[in-house]
Amino acid sequence: MSLLRTRPAAIKVLAAAAIAVAAWFLPYGLDTYGIHVINIAVVFALLAVGLGLAMGVAGQINLAQVAFFGIGSYALAIFTTNSGLGFWVSAVLAMLATALAGLFVGIPALRVQSHYLGIVTLGLALAFTNWVTNAQVAGGASGINGIPAPPAFGIDLTNEYLYYYFELIVFALAIGFALFLVRTALGRRLRAMRDDSLAAGAVGAPVPLLRMTAFLAASVYGGAAGILYAGLIHYIAPESFSVANMFLLLAMVIIGGRQSIIGCVIGAIALALVREALVDFSIYAQLGYGSVVVLMVVFAPTGLAGLPQRIRTAIRRRRHRAPGALAAFRPYEPATEESASGSLEISGISKQFRGLRALDGVTLSVEPGEIRGIVGPNGSGKTTLFNVISGIYTASGGTATFDGRQLVGRRPYQLSHQGMSRTFQNLRLFGEMTVEENLLVALDRTPMRAAWRYVVWPIGIWQHERRLRRASADLLDRFGLTDFAEAAPRSLPYGIQRRVELARAMAAEPSLLLLDEPAAGLNGQEVGQLQEIVRSIRDSGVTVVLIEHNMSLVMSLCDRVTVLASGRVIAEGTPAEVAVRPEVIEAYLGDSFSTAEVVEAVETEALP
Ligand code: ADP
Ligand code: MG
Repeated sequence: MSLLRTRPAAIKVLAAAAIAVAAWFLPYGLDTYGIHVINIAVVFALLAVGLGLAMGVAGQINLAQVAFFGIGSYALAIFTTNSGLGFWVSAVLAMLATALAGLFVGIPALRVQSHYLGIVTLGLALAFTNWVTNAQVAGGASGINGIPAPPAFGIDLTNEYLYYYFELIVFALAIGFALFLVRTALGRRLRAMRDDSLAAGAVGAPVPLLRMTAFLAASVYGGAAGILYAGLIHYIAPESFSVANMFLLLAMVIIGGRQSIIGCVIGAIALALVREALVDFSIYAQLGYGSVVVLMVVFAPTGLAGLPQRIRTAIRRRRHRAPGALAAFRPYEPATEESASGSLEISGISKQFRGLRALDGVTLSVEPGEIRGIVGPNGSGKTTLFNVISGIYTASGGTATFDGRQLVGRRPYQLSHQGMSRTFQNLRLFGEMTVEENLLVALDRTPMRAAWRYVVWPIGIWQHERRLRRASADLLDRFGLTDFAEAAPRSLPYGIQRRVELARAMAAEPSLLLLDEPAAGLNGQEVGQLQEIVRSIRDSGVTVVLIEHNMSLVMSLCDRVTVLASGRVIAEGTPAEVAVRPEVIEAYLGDSFSTAEVVEAVETEALP
């Protein structure tokens, strides 16, 4: 097994070494035109990696990449020619200018949903080309020439062969950083946001800041590419940063495989070469790229980079590899003292959806260490109540506190960091990530301000990564999921997916756990296991609030039950008290459960 696991890693290292050697010797076989084409291709590859980080990794539509590219180029050109600054000083200033532009584009991302971002970013791209075509300082339509090559210890970088090595070093660093980012905590949060931004927030990923981070990363790569480009050709003009080039970039990323950094590089280099070969037929070439992109989106949405994985999955499916077994749950250590946190006070909470009052003055109070059941017919507002408590919806009225702190108006990730965790009625696992990665996202509790370590102290990130991996191994083992660590959640049976979501909610080490119909879709044996797990979670000192339709589970598990109907609390008490109240039987139990069934459940399980 360990041999099987190390082999792909060894193959990757060997492949990387072979590519590095080939890249080093590549110029020896090229004439001056050839090396120029390659130098341009590397610039495109850098741009594509930045676009891939924003679109493929973080899932944010970014049509401003070409503007970031332009800002880097133009800033460098203006600083070196107009202001007479040195190349390196100008390069630093150009990077800062581009990063600022990235943050600026990210501002609407703090509030706006992704599709609108497409329009915002496209607007920026158009505004940029418009501006440079008209602005005097940017040389108007004729652009800026006379941009110097970077001085480098007396090495003549006007020589394109030598410039290639300069690009190669920048590129290697950029790729290394991107791969590091994607495989560690911050990158996982970005990917989680891409897969399900709601669930990502609920497990503690600061979604608005992550969106900004995505644009910042894209802009930094765009700026670096712009600087390399200006230093390479010494002349820039608006058409290099046109929207047509933006679509070429998109084609590179989609064809290569946007979720994979290496895929973006492959797509960029391949298309840059194809573009050069078809330079005399550019209109047909545009059509060609368009068609290939459409074909890719339909038949291979993961791009060229995703093909090996698709083939592997297809072969595996044919072989019918037996799935591993869901192992037993290993109970938590019981808490030695009564826990004092995890309390919830809800007072007069309402939630209005246009004409519909989904919650109408709900008041309830959950003590630390309690298991509270919430029952009620479909549409009575149970899930809406959870969404309000966990910060996904803002209440239309009323107040609520979690451990004494006001919760209305706070973001899901902030509540998660305070110790609230939840599952969703319809599973919301991060679909493009493995089971282990799903848990790792929730295990990571670092605040966003610690992200600066990526730039100045990557070793710290790596040490943190090792701690997270140990914790995830323990958690996988506790929930009996070790065999599925590498599996894609979608490939697993429903009951196991539910177990993964529960484990993910517990990864955050919450003091309050909200479970929305955790038994839905489970078989009898799985419901029994769930009961054992929830008990153990409570005994370890966690407060649990449980929405559930399975009455015998509610009756046996909950200390108290709150009954909702049409957005109001109609009854509250111990399971035995609630079950026999006539208004409850009428409002809820009457339709799907007979009274006799409930009474039997109460007598056999709930009452000692
Ligand atoms: P339950 O979980 O008890 O089955 P919900 O809380 O999901 O009920 O829904 C309560 C009511 O609120 C339903 O009538 C539902 O259609 C409505 N509702 C829930 N979410 C929304 C929303 N985002 N927009 C409009 N109506 C909603
Ligand atoms: Mg519901």
